[in-house]
Formats: sequence, C-alpha cells, structure tokens
Amino acid sequence: AIPDVHRNRTRLVIKREVSHMHFSDFKLHPQLARAITRAGYEAPTPIQVKAIPPALTGKDLIGIAQTGTGKTAAFVLPILDRLLRAPEKLGKSHALIIAPTRELAEQIHTTVREFAEGSRIRSATIYGGVGMNPQEKALREGVEILVVCPGRLRDHIEQGTAVLKGIEVLVLDEADRMFDMGFLPSVRRIIERLPRGRQTLLFSATFAPELQSLADQVTRRPERVDAGMGVVKTIAHALYPVPQSLKTGLLTHFLKTYMPYSVLVFTRTKHRANRVFTQLTKSGFTAGVLHSNKSQNQRQRALDDFRAGKLQVLVA
Ligand code: AMP
Repeated sequence: AIPDVHRNRTRLVIKREVSHMHFSDFKLHPQLARAITRAGYEAPTPIQVKAIPPALTGKDLIGIAQTGTGKTAAFVLPILDRLLRAPEKLGKSHALIIAPTRELAEQIHTTVREFAEGSRIRSATIYGGVGMNPQEKALREGVEILVVCPGRLRDHIEQGTAVLKGIEVLVLDEADRMFDMGFLPSVRRIIERLPRGRQTLLFSATFAPELQSLADQVTRRPERVDAGMGVVKTIAHALYPVPQSLKTGLLTHFLKTYMPYSVLVFTRTKHRANRVFTQLTKSGFTAGVLHSNKSQNQRQRALDDFRAGKLQVLVA
C-alpha cells in the first residue's frame, strides 16, 4: 500500500490555460449553456476559443490539439448546438465522429451524453470486440451522433447496414494516430460514402506531411487553428538511456524511490507489456495491463480501476 503522505506529495494540480473569453460569447443554445455550467467549465480553453466560432458557422476546420486541451468539447458543442436549433434533423444520423481507439470513442460518447442530457439527441458507439446487433439497430434507427472506430464501421458499410447519406458533420479525431495505426484506407472508404456537402472537422496532435494529403482530400477551404500547447508545461520530462537488461530494474527502483501514484508505463509491444506487468506484480506493485489482446471487458476494467486509484501502475 502506498502511504497517503506520498500520494499527496505526488498529486499534481494542473492549472488549465484559460482565456479571457466567456462561454456566453459563443451564443450557444441555452440548454448547452446550462450543461457547460453543470460540467463545471468556467472559461473556454484556447482550442475552444479558436475552433468553436468557425465550427458554428459550418466551416471546415483543421485543429491542431492534443488530448487534455479540451478538443472534445470544441467539436461536440457545435454539433449539439446545430441539432438543438434544428429539431427537424432528429431521427437520422447527423454527425459521424471517427476515433482511432475504442477507449477514445467511449470518452467522446460520454462527453456527448453529458452535454446532450435532457434533450432528445442520442449518441451510439460502433467499434469492434463487441456485438454487431445493437450497432445495426443504432444505424437503422438513425441515432443522431455516431462515435466510431474505422474498422467496424467499414464492416457495417460492406454488409450494407450503415446508412450514412444524412451525415452533415464529419469529425476525424486524432487523425495522426489513425494514420500511425494504419486506419487511413478504412477512413477513406468510409468518407467515400458521405455526402459531399458535409462539414468536416479534423483534429490532430501533430501535423505530419502525410496528413496534408488526407486533409486536402476531406476538407474544403478549412480554417486552421492551433491550440499551441507544445509540451505541456506541468509535466517534467527525463530521458534515461539504459541497456535493455537494466530497464525493469530501473523502473522498479524509480517506483520504490519516488513512490508516484497513478503511473502509466508504455511499452513497444503487447508481449513486453505483459512481461513488465508480471514483473511489477511480483515486486509487489498493484498493476494492471492494457492492450488489444485483452477483451473489451478487461480493457474497460483496467482503465476504470486505474482511474479509481485501485491500481498504482497501468502498463499499456
Ligand atoms: P479533452 O482534451 O477533450 O480530452 O479534455 C480534457 C479534459 O478537460 C476533460 O476532462 C474535459 O472535461 C476538460 N475540459 C474541457 N474543456 C474544459 C473547460 N473549458 N474548462 C474546464 N475543463 C475542461
């Protein structure tokens, strides 16, 4: 067990970079204004300040923003605003949000539900590793907001169960990760099925040259906005060049010496993640492991336990 004194010592209070704008400046639907207050947001973040106004006018957008900048709300709020103002749009799939991982899709879905509470706007997730039937139902019924991973939606398209003719807004979230993970062919196949007159919002933490051709293909006269965070200021970085044979020893030494709580350890391979997890467990740490050979249930449980503080270390 980690003594509380250490827990407190390592807990960081992250002060968000805030602007002098107010959410009320966006003139969002009153129902959204209430939801924002309920969520406890006081001021919009830089990416929200830059992305929400053009997104509300229907423009295409390329947003350079990483996780933690508030980018999710930057695209969710304009989508919901449009649906709340045009209830005749309800009853068909209106927005398609594509994300690289199931965990991110779930997170976006949760944000949508939080802000859409009390309205008739529905959201559904579509990704692999879980049953097709509820997803087919959501597609058939025209759930207004679909949050998907590329592979499974492509399966639905190939089976003819996905009707995407009514999509008016497309969001590509973490486009650089989708590129790294080899999802671009699937993403392109999906986009071929979407109406041309749609609005496209593309978000990416980095903007490598490979992404330019995708951006050119999917957006029209996009506005480019940058959260301009670079390296998050509240995080200290250190690099320890160390031979392979000493890596695990260094990690356990580090954990024992500094006793940090909530530690994410990333490894290059799933196999290595399992090995590090086993070694940490043997050394007496409460650890969990997360990778794509685990069932969706196991993945969700590992994340939930990590978030709840039941695990000190999550190896992914
Ligand atoms: P994201 O970058 O979208 O993953 O958001 C990171 C976290 O910031 C989430 O927990 C959001 O709920 C939170 N967040 C987003 N916008 C704001 C805001 N304007 N004020 C306070 N928290 C926010």
